[in-house]
Amino acid sequence: MKIWKILSPKVLTTEERPDNIASPTQAKVKITQVLLTDTDFRIFGGAGKPRYPVIPGRFAVGVVTETGAECVNVEKNTRVFLHDIFPCRNCPECLSGKTENCTSPKTAGLNCEGYLREFVVADESDLSPLPSSVSDKDALLIGIISLCEAVIDRLGEPKGTHVAVFGADAIGNILSQLLIYHKAVPILVDTDESKLGIASQCGIYYTLKADESLKDNLLRITGGRLAAAGVHCSFSGLAPELAFKATAEGGTVVCAGFEFPEMNAQLKTALDKGLTITAVTDEAAGSAAAINLLVNKAVNTQPFGIAEISAADAGKLFAAQSESTEKSGRAHYGIVNML
Ligand SMILES: [Zn+2]
Repeated sequence: MKIWKILSPKVLTTEERPDNIASPTQAKVKITQVLLTDTDFRIFGGAGKPRYPVIPGRFAVGVVTETGAECVNVEKNTRVFLHDIFPCRNCPECLSGKTENCTSPKTAGLNCEGYLREFVVADESDLSPLPSSVSDKDALLIGIISLCEAVIDRLGEPKGTHVAVFGADAIGNILSQLLIYHKAVPILVDTDESKLGIASQCGIYYTLKADESLKDNLLRITGGRLAAAGVHCSFSGLAPELAFKATAEGGTVVCAGFEFPEMNAQLKTALDKGLTITAVTDEAAGSAAAINLLVNKAVNTQPFGIAEISAADAGKLFAAQSESTEKSGRAHYGIVNML
């Protein structure tokens, strides 16, 4: 069946390929929706020297159409989230059976095949069945929710403390909502007022513009103490030192994102304050926990207004959004309807 492939910078093509179950624990899934993110648009544009060809699309939902004889978790018509990170099965951790500690996991749409395709054959262990109360659109965000939960874990016990989050795209927004769910107090910062407006609609009450009054506003909200921790979201167009400046002495700054661009940061502030700088990326999607958060309505994605397009228009979306990433470093996510 049909797959979409990026062959070289700005060349998206389709090809036909058979999709047949080859082992009794595999299932065949009709892909219904794919979320395209800035990673896909950067690969399309050729940024970061991708290894072509790439089948894009990291996040997807689908419906099982056929199962192998030994499948026990899914059956025909089960709605599923397709996992986005896979153990390499070659590193020492994988070879000793601890695939959850894999040191070089593979990511769909980046260094293994993504989901912009009509069907996929996958092992049922790489499929998470979706409860009926979780919509397809929300399920597409499971990977982002898992990343954000990993950031909150890294922050330790953020309950009751101020956390300054820099970058109000999907990751910064969802992280802030989850911090509220975990009873911490996020302060979401961006230069883009429209993104801060969406954040307010999502129930994030402290949103600040990254301008000359930022420090004063932070001091006012935190009662002069600054934030206990900071989070710098990658590809937000904001300088990492903003997070260093916003964080109180001895605090932690987490750099969060699915990838990091080449970047330079002025470290003096961080060193003077004795900050701990760490990073969270590519956490194996804790799908069960993320699905549970969606069931509990911990995240409101309604105001995101992610554009939905047909598969026939995928090429146009790639062209427009890769141009946007080249110009501003930022892109709008898009949902491709594969039905
Ligand atoms: Zn491994």
